[in-house]
Order: sequence, then structure tokens, then C-alpha cells
Amino acid sequence: MDWEALKLEVRQLLDEKDAVLMVHNYQRPEIQDVADELGDSLALCQKAQQVDRDRIVFCGVDFMAEAAKILNPSKVVHHPDLDSVCPMAHMVDTEGLKMLQEQKPDAVTVSYINTSSEVKALTDICCTSANAVDVVRATGASEIIFTPDTNLGMWIKRKLPEVEMHFWPGYCPTHMLITVPILKQMRAEHPEAEILAHPECTPDVIDFSDGCFSTEGMIKYAARSPAKEFIVASERDMAYRLHLAHPEKTFHPVSIAVCPNMKKITLQKVRDSLKHDKGIVELDEDLMDAARRPLEKMVAIGRSSFDSGPQEIAAQVA
Ligand code: SF4
Repeated sequence: MDWEALKLEVRQLLDEKDAVLMVHNYQRPEIQDVADELGDSLALCQKAQQVDRDRIVFCGVDFMAEAAKILNPSKVVHHPDLDSVCPMAHMVDTEGLKMLQEQKPDAVTVSYINTSSEVKALTDICCTSANAVDVVRATGASEIIFTPDTNLGMWIKRKLPEVEMHFWPGYCPTHMLITVPILKQMRAEHPEAEILAHPECTPDVIDFSDGCFSTEGMIKYAARSPAKEFIVASERDMAYRLHLAHPEKTFHPVSIAVCPNMKKITLQKVRDSLKHDKGIVELDEDLMDAARRPLEKMVAIGRSSFDSGPQEIAAQVA
């Protein structure tokens, strides 16, 4: 494969179609290389709202491309592989959520952005891992239904122990592959490295790590840390994203932590989507209207200060 020729072709097509290429931090390296906007869910939502070109090509999983369409509905949004879906997002269904809401009528529903548009439409406010604690705090509620990631929910609960939280039993299959024995082995191989964990990891993995961060929080922390090496307890290609941001430092991925759905999108599919107008996101207008409200509230809250460093983790665990 002549990657440079393909990258050039994609860039030319983006110009011809007046399109912006938005790429999540877990995408393949060759896609990250040609991104106009590279970031986490929150950053990409913020950018999607402001896009003034005709089209958005979104390289991420289904709910991310849908969120871009909902937040900027006049744009044509391409999702280069419509089968690239987030399994965690599909662990929560509207019927089950409605039932839980009937059982807990006083609870405010907070949903991770990793949910379907239908679930968002039943949600009071969305969050990402970059602002989850601030979002829950901003509701002012003493009782929360949190969907769908139990691990992120437990992370919030550590920060806000006074809030009663009802967790939906969802999880990220990729982050669940990261275990303490794997990290112990990696620490033995790289004794100088700090371990950075994502809040979708299990609590024991977070406790074993030196800090727990959203993906953008990892980028910021790596800049201010004196460490030169890091073990990245998140999706494998997050290490490449960190390398792009800090080429002077070394980032070790957990090699088995691959999200197969993120990897369904290839640079060839990006080209084909643009060339043949394939993979256009289409959503019902009423559904988009209902799902926009909790997303806009999330974006308005912005990025949280919760991303923690080693000292804060130590204080929590103590
Ligand atoms: S890494 Fe996990 S949460 Fe992210 S898209 Fe893949 S399955 Fe979903």
C-alpha cells in the first residue's frame, strides 16, 4: 500500500467536497495522520458544532458520527463504515432505561456519550469521560441513574460519594482486557514508566495506575509530568496519539487492548466514502431534536478539571 499516495488522495477529496476530517484518538495511525481535528468525544463534539464546511467525515464509532450530525444537522455527515459500532453503547436499551426511570422517579438520568441517539433522547444530560464528574455535580441531584458504563460510574462515585448512583451494567470490552497482571508485567519491563489509566478500566486497574485520565487528560498530563516513559492503559492506538502530541517521550501501549470496531474504519473506506457518497448518517428529525438537548448541555459544561494526577489518586486510595 502506497500510504502517502492514499493520504494525498483523501486530502484532495476532502477539499473537493468541502469536507472536514474529524478523527477520534483511537483510530488507526494513518487516519490520525491526515486528520483536520483529532481528539476525544468532547473535543470532537465541540468542533462539530462549529464546522462551517459542507461535510463532516467522522472517523470513530456510530454514536460519535451521530452526535456530530445531531449537533450540526445541516451538514452532510459521512461515517466511512456504518458497521463500526460501540458495543458498550448498545448494552443499554430504551425499554430497560424507561423501566429503571419508573422505578427511580426522583433520579436524574446521566448518560455517557457512548449511547444510542434513542437513549440520549431519554436522558437529562450526557457526559464524556472528560467531564463526567462535573456533569453529575452540575445536575445538583442527590440521586442519579448512570448509563451505560459501570466503571466510569464507579469512578464518578469515588469523587462524589454523597450522590446515590444507580449504575447500568455496561462496560467497554476493550478496556476490560486490561488487567493488573498485565500492567505488573509491563511495569517490570519499564520500571521508569508511569501508568496512565482510562476511567473505563476496572477499579483495581485504576488503583494500580499512577493516574486516571480521559484521553485528552492523558495528553495534558504527559506534558506536565517529568516522566519520560508511560504505559497507556487504554485503547492501543491511544499510544500513537500520545506519541504525535509528545514525540520526545515514549508511550507503551497495552497491545491486546484493541477496539475492533474503531479499526473497522480504514483510510481506503474514508476515500471511498468521499468518492462515492457512501456511509451518510441519516437520523429522524424528531429523534435528533430530542437527543440534541442532553448533548448541548454536556458541551456547555465543557472539559472538567477532574483528570487527576498521581497525588490525587494516592489521596483517594489512602
Ligand atoms: S473502546 Fe470501548 S467504549 Fe470505545 S468505542 Fe470501543 S468498545 Fe466502545
